Amino acid sequence: METPVRSRPAGVGRNAESPLPSVPGVSQEEIRRQNLGAVLRYVHLHGPTSRAELTSRLGLNRSTIGVLSAELVASGLVTEEAPTTARRAGRPSLVVSPRSDRVYAHALSIDAGRLRAARVGLGGRILDLREVDRPAGMSAVDAVRPLADLVRDMERSVAAETLLVGGAVAVTDTTRDPDGKIRIASVDETLGAALDAEFTDCPGFVAGDLADIAGLAEHVRGVAAGIDDLIYLHGDLGISAGIIVGGRLVIGHRGHSGKVGHMVVNPNGLPCGCGSRGCWETEIGEAALLRHAGRDPGEREAVAEVLRAAADGDRTAREAVEQVADWLGFGVANLVNVVNPDAVVFGGSLRDIFTAGAETVRRRLDAMPLPLSREHLRLRAAALGRDAVLIGAAELAFDKLLADPLNVGVLGQAATTDDPARPGAR
Ligand SMILES: [Zn+2]
Repeated sequence: METPVRSRPAGVGRNAESPLPSVPGVSQEEIRRQNLGAVLRYVHLHGPTSRAELTSRLGLNRSTIGVLSAELVASGLVTEEAPTTARRAGRPSLVVSPRSDRVYAHALSIDAGRLRAARVGLGGRILDLREVDRPAGMSAVDAVRPLADLVRDMERSVAAETLLVGGAVAVTDTTRDPDGKIRIASVDETLGAALDAEFTDCPGFVAGDLADIAGLAEHVRGVAAGIDDLIYLHGDLGISAGIIVGGRLVIGHRGHSGKVGHMVVNPNGLPCGCGSRGCWETEIGEAALLRHAGRDPGEREAVAEVLRAAADGDRTAREAVEQVADWLGFGVANLVNVVNPDAVVFGGSLRDIFTAGAETVRRRLDAMPLPLSREHLRLRAAALGRDAVLIGAAELAFDKLLADPLNVGVLGQAATTDDPARPGAR
């Protein structure tokens, strides 16, 4: 496995679906493979699509689309069917659909308090899901064994003729020790070996930062679909960001970018788990909200209660939300000046805090002195909820298949061969 993963999935962002034009020096075979990838990626992202629409969207001619689609059908990656409702007279255009129930990836997440494992079908559909608590003090490497148990449990009900194309795991950077101390951890270098040891029948496992992966999901399928410049802010035990610029994840050296929770915003503020003082997450995290509301900052379950009380008009709760939302707007204003995104998306526990305090966040942003940075800016609550992490992980896992479909998977033909070019088929 590559740890941490962090190269941008090839198809994410601008021109992701563009087929390859005829270029001197590029072989016909190469063009064919690229175009197969373009067709498969299109139906993976957009769902069932008629051949006619593929023809116009991908700029290829009708007969080429017909050949490519037939080849994907023969490989078991898509189906072709007559449309259920013919819109006009004449021969209807066949509808090409991803085989979500047969072609899938393993998507795992290790967040501050839970371990989750899903089978996600081509097309981004969650087919099956298992989860357990992550005990305080459990490292990401130690989480691999229980995750593998969840995967094995799911695999028991998988149909005989399926294609597993790969797997990915999203790992949070903030954990809690058994004594309650919050610790900042990067993706562990030995995680790759642990994954490879447990998932011997899964071709290529990749790992990445949880906020990056959830941000990727919102960019590909969620509230920021079609937006190539965005900041996704994720609240969990800590605060981190997935920053996408020009359709590409900004990952930094060894994938350690996006630690926005540790921007110092209040030099006289509280000590942070990172060793610094007055970091942004000490002002906008769950613990800050609980503290302002007069609750135990370690009592994470009470966050929803505080937000509910604020919505019901409880004054202390309302003031706690306002205070956190004001700091949220303050930090967002600074990030917006640096990155100049088209959208800021709030996910994880920040989703609910933003929703409750959106007016205060906006007011703080409106006080920014640089109107050009904010006039076009959209503030959005994340759309995919807790599934974002799993859907994003699956996008990473599908990337190789989408880049070169026939090299990765041919459904139902590998049971009699151990051809390494067809990993995972069974
Ligand atoms: Zn910090």
